[in-house]
Amino acid sequence: MNTPKRYTITAALPYTNGPIHIGHLAGVYVPSDIYARYLRLTGKDVAYICGSDEHGVAIPMRAKKEGVSPQDIIDKYHGIIKKSFSDFGISFDNYARTSDKIHHETASAFFNKLYENGDFIEEVSAQLYDAEANQFLADRFVVGTCPKCGFEESYGDQCENCGTTHNATDLINPKSAITGNIPSLKETKHWFLPLDKHELFLREWILEGHKKDWKPNVYGQVKSWVEDGLRPRAVTRDLDWGIPVPVKGAEGKVLYVWFDAPIGYISSTKEWAAREGKNWEDYWKKDDTKLVHFIGKDNIVFHCIIFPSMLKAHGDYILPDNVPANEFLNLEGNKLSTSKNWAVWLHEYLEEFPDQQDVLRYTLTANAPESKDNDFTWKDFQAKNNNELVAIFGNFINRVVVLTNKYYNGIVPTPNDFSEIDEDVLAAVKEFPNTIGKSIERYRFREASQELMNLARLGNKYLADEEPWKVIKLDEKRVQTILYVALQISTALSVVSEPFLPFTSIKLKNILNVDEKLSWEDVTDTPILLPSNHQISKAELLFSKIEDKAIEAQIEKLQATKIANEQENKVLEPQKETIDFDDFTKLDIRIGTILEAEKVAKTKKLLKLKVDVGIDTRTIVSGIAESFSPESIIGQQVSVLVNLAPRKIRGVESQGMILMTDTSDGKLAFVEPEKTVKNGQEVS
Ligand SMILES: [Zn+2]
Repeated sequence: MNTPKRYTITAALPYTNGPIHIGHLAGVYVPSDIYARYLRLTGKDVAYICGSDEHGVAIPMRAKKEGVSPQDIIDKYHGIIKKSFSDFGISFDNYARTSDKIHHETASAFFNKLYENGDFIEEVSAQLYDAEANQFLADRFVVGTCPKCGFEESYGDQCENCGTTHNATDLINPKSAITGNIPSLKETKHWFLPLDKHELFLREWILEGHKKDWKPNVYGQVKSWVEDGLRPRAVTRDLDWGIPVPVKGAEGKVLYVWFDAPIGYISSTKEWAAREGKNWEDYWKKDDTKLVHFIGKDNIVFHCIIFPSMLKAHGDYILPDNVPANEFLNLEGNKLSTSKNWAVWLHEYLEEFPDQQDVLRYTLTANAPESKDNDFTWKDFQAKNNNELVAIFGNFINRVVVLTNKYYNGIVPTPNDFSEIDEDVLAAVKEFPNTIGKSIERYRFREASQELMNLARLGNKYLADEEPWKVIKLDEKRVQTILYVALQISTALSVVSEPFLPFTSIKLKNILNVDEKLSWEDVTDTPILLPSNHQISKAELLFSKIEDKAIEAQIEKLQATKIANEQENKVLEPQKETIDFDDFTKLDIRIGTILEAEKVAKTKKLLKLKVDVGIDTRTIVSGIAESFSPESIIGQQVSVLVNLAPRKIRGVESQGMILMTDTSDGKLAFVEPEKTVKNGQEVS
């Protein structure tokens, strides 16, 4: 495409069945926000569009589980998600809801146009049916073995393991997700989009036309699907949650969520255009508009095959210029999972790291899963903050601002003769917008963020080499020039950091007291970014060091989640061999009270206890030190097997055994009487 007149940028519509975590941010929302902010800074006409997808079948399922209505679920999570986006500076021009009237109308009209064109196949076919639930099973209502990769928990429309989409009837050993029953087959009428008819178009448009400019991971997936052969896909469902199919004879049926969701980008654009006095059609129907879809890799098939086939069949719409899908982000080596609570939730992050949105944005960009799955670790998060944001970016700015205030009362000094180094540095600064911009335009956000840090490195090195704090004693005029140059670098940073670190950029502009409207090109084209005699403000720290303690707390929190998951999934031991009553009566179990407790030297797990078991007071060594501190259990009543043969443990003779059980967080718990009883009472 030649220079586009305008940009329509879409970010995947999140399902409103849970809050947003770092995986969402890294995969879709931070890169798309960097892209949109960058384009706006270069003066482009941008519509950055998103909204809540409120028709997913996960929503009525979650509602059923929580005993509330689907409306309650979507209202709750739409609010939480929208707030998270705004808290993290995701600068959507519009954030809509697919439950909005304008979307129902837009999606219905879209369906009708294809229906009238004869683009659907209408077919009565046998579909999976759960007689007990009185419901047809599709999408997430059915699980079974993926016909492609053999994954046993595949959904009816897509396998989360290999990403393949299929029809529910393709599943091997399907089971109802509602009742667990094996479904029967029942006839019902549906409308199918014949993807096979669009194969030639897809081959020409993507496999030929976008060989060079689409990311290899996206191109490769599309190629493999097209080459596997495309088949008609049902775009309607027998459900009561969604947009009713707008034709006669379709009562009780709704549009497949993946048919209506991408149309949500169009209806959200309409809503925005109406509010802003723009023409939405310019953003979706004009050839000089560049349409870019930001998504995660699990959505590639919908945005590269199904939605383009719909747009093409409709005839009035442009096609995406690019679909820069990211791979997945893992967390500390494991797949992010909402159901397993294996995630860093954005609202929780902000409670624990208040006002540090940019640290997370930066870490997720510098480590973005652009070409392969990547891992988020708390140690890396700490290192990115302490070693880059604090030590390089923050340190440079702080020194420049402190020295300018100290030597010149915060007034930008007038430079004297520039040295060769000064000239080189000032020339190098002007190159950065171009370098960073090129990376952004090629959807290489990691690379772009590293270039941003290189600009800060340039400033930091310049100061370290020129040492104005030493030169001030020898050559005051030289210091004027050094700080003047350093202040130009600082101003450049305040502009080019904006797409990546929007909160920091505002802070820095306030410190430098510069116009918020400085554009990307100004950094390259304006001869003087920050003029002499301009008054700047006092220093203020842009970033602060994150201590080991804060990181350890996060790692411990994840560790606790892991243990809780393990406990939850723990398979209970099968019942042991049957014994006689006589065998049981051989066990002499008594209630006792712990009188004294101390650690057994050089061991982690052992406590040496003095226990009053009624008949006597005896020493018992117990492996409970990881669950209890000695002082916390004095006076605790316990159950003791008193006639266990004494044995020496670490040199201490133990005369009995305290009965324990496990709790869900992996700790131990005492088996104690429900009321305090006399020591020595038998358990029988
Ligand atoms: Zn699979």
